[in-house]
Amino acid sequence: MDIRVVDVRKDFDRYPALRGVSLDIRSGELIALLGPSGSGKTTLLRLIAGLEHPTSGMVFFGDEDASQKSVQERNVGFVFQSYALFKHLTVADNIAFGLKVRPRDKRPPGAAIRKRASELLDLVQLSGLEKRFPAQLSGGQRQRVALARALAIEPRVLLLDEPFGALDAKVRRELRQWLRELHDKTGHTTVFVTHDQEEALELADRVVVMSQGLIEQVGTPDEIYDSPNSPFVFSFIGEASELPVSVAGGQILFEGHPVGLSPARAGDGAARLFLRPNSVDLAGDRPDALRGTVASVRRSGGWRRINLLVGEAKHLVEIEVPADACHDLPDKIAFLPRYWQLFPAS
Ligand code: ADP
Ligand code: MG
Repeated sequence: MDIRVVDVRKDFDRYPALRGVSLDIRSGELIALLGPSGSGKTTLLRLIAGLEHPTSGMVFFGDEDASQKSVQERNVGFVFQSYALFKHLTVADNIAFGLKVRPRDKRPPGAAIRKRASELLDLVQLSGLEKRFPAQLSGGQRQRVALARALAIEPRVLLLDEPFGALDAKVRRELRQWLRELHDKTGHTTVFVTHDQEEALELADRVVVMSQGLIEQVGTPDEIYDSPNSPFVFSFIGEASELPVSVAGGQILFEGHPVGLSPARAGDGAARLFLRPNSVDLAGDRPDALRGTVASVRRSGGWRRINLLVGEAKHLVEIEVPADACHDLPDKIAFLPRYWQLFPAS
């Protein structure tokens, strides 16, 4: 089922947590809401769940206006960062909880509930642990139980708010992979909140980048990484360095000198050149290269990360070069970005 968020604003008192957000979520897709803390991700997720109501704007589930529907009527499965399992219930009872508390006329018979719980345990690869209590599980296992519990009610959409945020990096990476496989098996429309770029880019079909209550960009991981549409997205999605340049007659100029890069779109005037440290070529003695003085070097695996002070104004630019590319590092390095983007200067 498609979900459509149409021009939603959400004010808390006078504070605008969402400032006009529109988003189409396609049936069966895994979409990540990605942004720094405070950008409005949780608020958007809670609005989709029905835990909050918009100050203005609409939320559609399929063709129905869901804006006035309750959480139960929307039939969503929710998993939070903190393990919200019932401590005094076994794993099996936790999973079955959502079915057991249904009104009598909508409740499956006991045997059917037990069967469903056991299927879900299988699905989240925890068979054999049904009699354990949450305290007897690892953090990663608890979150898998929370997911099974959310799936038990056969939700129309699965909403996950930083579900792996409290786990250590290694477990998080494993669960990321696991969630992707689970999603491909069950095909639930899934909205996943994270502030972790890597997690969003690796996991999602599409990524929604948010900042300050607005959507900055929506796209596939490749689109977001390869064609960020703003300085914010460029810098948030990966490492970035910036140089102030100007464009004149189809030529990029840095401090008045032509740079050997061809801007895709002409448009004369001041501009901001963004580049990624890991996408830079050394330029030998090319006259149209950028040049910097080495300020510091650190070794990282087979690479060297070099901080350069570039130009008269000593702009700090970080570049990465293979450790064996320059055994005796010169004081001055000429380079050209391989991947770069130009943005208008404000
Ligand atoms: P995120 O999940 O991206 O970190 P949130 O959606 O939680 O961001 O919050 C967005 C903004 O709205 C934040 O500045 C937060 O302080 C504010 N906010 C969220 N919930 C409330 C609330 N219930 N009352 C007041 N302000 C809130
Ligand atoms: Mg949040």
